[in-house]
Amino acid sequence: HAKNCGKNNAKLYSSSLTMQIMSHVKLEVGLRKALQNNELYLLYQPQIDVSSAQVVGVEALVRWRHPERGIISPTEFIPLAEETGLIVPIGEWVLRTACRQAMAWQAAGKQPVRVAVNLSAKQFKDENLTQIVLSTLHDTGLPAELLELELTEGTLMDDARATMVTLEQLRGIGVYLSIDDFGTGYSSMNYLKRFDVRALKIDKSFISGLPQDSENAAITRAIIAMAHGLKMAVVAEGVETGAQLLLLEQFGCDLAQGYYLGHPSPPESIDLMLGNQFTINGLAPSDDGHAI
Ligand code: C2E
Ligand code: MG
Ligand code: MG
Ligand code: MG
Repeated sequence: HAKNCGKNNAKLYSSSLTMQIMSHVKLEVGLRKALQNNELYLLYQPQIDVSSAQVVGVEALVRWRHPERGIISPTEFIPLAEETGLIVPIGEWVLRTACRQAMAWQAAGKQPVRVAVNLSAKQFKDENLTQIVLSTLHDTGLPAELLELELTEGTLMDDARATMVTLEQLRGIGVYLSIDDFGTGYSSMNYLKRFDVRALKIDKSFISGLPQDSENAAITRAIIAMAHGLKMAVVAEGVETGAQLLLLEQFGCDLAQGYYLGHPSPPESIDLMLGNQFTINGLAPSDDGHAI
């Protein structure tokens, strides 16, 4: 009896494993066609200057409109894109689309808006990266300083020498480099000093418990102090409440990004936020230029 049970379990297990593999393969086949079928698109999430309440940047976040499954999150398909190498053409498309959009905002006479693009470790290791960034800036006409590339701690720690060379090249072009999800990976403080990174993005896991969580408040304050000591700017990710924004302002945080300030949105929604009529949750910036 017990034997039978085990057999059935094994069968059940293997059939669900087969299904998992099959759906994985199906997704991969679909992802290969997603680019040519125009199924990928970008949303833009505003980054707000905490002291002036102005939109100073946007982060481009990719989505996949799957013909059968509906909208698929990047947390599901970016790892698959990395595994299969599809991240290189997809990343190139993201870069080009984001730069073209930023240039359109620029050409429409809006205030300068920096566009941030996420780079995965695989893209960073691609020997053509610098050339791709250069030709994208050239083709779209976007000034290099309006392009931000977000790297992770893991990407920077991977291979010190190759990383150094690529970072030097990107710095030479004049793009703005930042470290995403800061505090969740392995970072050597020594690296922060050596790499010419302009900003740290504090991971949202530190922000979510604020203002009550005193340990995360201490960590957040310490990251801000360290970054400022190194002449780097700080972006808080995942700001969901006014109380969090207030605390971050007290800590001297430079920029904030999160649902409280704006969800990832199509470009037309960002259009409306640019210019003078922008307000945070219906509140205009106060007279002294402060958001709150
Ligand atoms: P990320 O770069 O850290 O992006 C921030 C994520 O936090 C986004 O998730 C955003 O929608 C979400 N978020 C923003 N504000 C809030 C908030 O107030 N609360 C909470 N709980 N979440 C918030 P999304 O768009 O699902 O992207 C997930 C991750 O996928 C990104 O994390 C990034 O690592 C990756 N990703 C997205 N687009 C691209 C891309 O074009 N290329 C690459 N290589 N990776 C991408
Ligand atoms: Mg990011
Ligand atoms: Mg992040
Ligand atoms: Mg991330």
